[in-house]
Amino acid sequence: MSWRKNQIISHRYDQYPGNKTKIAAKKKTWDSKTNEIKALKSTIKKHYSIVQNDTCAYCRTPVRFDGYGEAIEHIVVKSEKFRWMFHPYNLCISCYGCNTKKGIENTLINVPTSYANGYNDIPLNSNSYRIIHPHFDTYSKYIQETKLLCIPKTTSIKGPETIRICKLNRLDLIYTRARQKSYSKRTLQKILVRVVGDTSFRKEERESAQKMVDTIIDRYNYIKQLP
Ligand SMILES: [Zn+2]
Repeated sequence: MSWRKNQIISHRYDQYPGNKTKIAAKKKTWDSKTNEIKALKSTIKKHYSIVQNDTCAYCRTPVRFDGYGEAIEHIVVKSEKFRWMFHPYNLCISCYGCNTKKGIENTLINVPTSYANGYNDIPLNSNSYRIIHPHFDTYSKYIQETKLLCIPKTTSIKGPETIRICKLNRLDLIYTRARQKSYSKRTLQKILVRVVGDTSFRKEERESAQKMVDTIIDRYNYIKQLP
């Protein structure tokens, strides 16, 4: 069972009784090798893996059990706001792909003017963020899945910005969605060929579909040439 798209993060990691005291470590740096920080990070990963039911906050596909090998995701990147790096509202679990694609993109509506904003300056409301914030926003309100692609649902910038910043129509995700539905490659190809010719989809969506179709054809050709 996955974390449903109408769910938001139900609890912060500091709400778990045993975790409260560990937040004292928050002034240390993320990459510190001390046991205190290592324990705190494993606590954070465990917590968000459990409350997100091992599901990526951005693409909503499954991550590995207990987030093993996956990223603890900073919703506002550490290099932008280093004092928010242990803030419970700035953390979640994402898949490796979304974490990497998102990179160091700004996710705040107002481009931050001060790198040194304090721990308590973090905005605790949806409107301050360009992307779907897993603590404040209902995912299904902004993004729907149509023919294996993520399509923005409202005029809010959150849908298009989350899709753009995390590259939610990247090939590995199209493929994952097709597998979740047990589609064969032929079915997947047919659906995407229709998308390519359907002008109700935006240019980027049709390009993603075309890329996947090209990849499928390339793979058929590869197999054909094997002895
Ligand atoms: Zn993801």
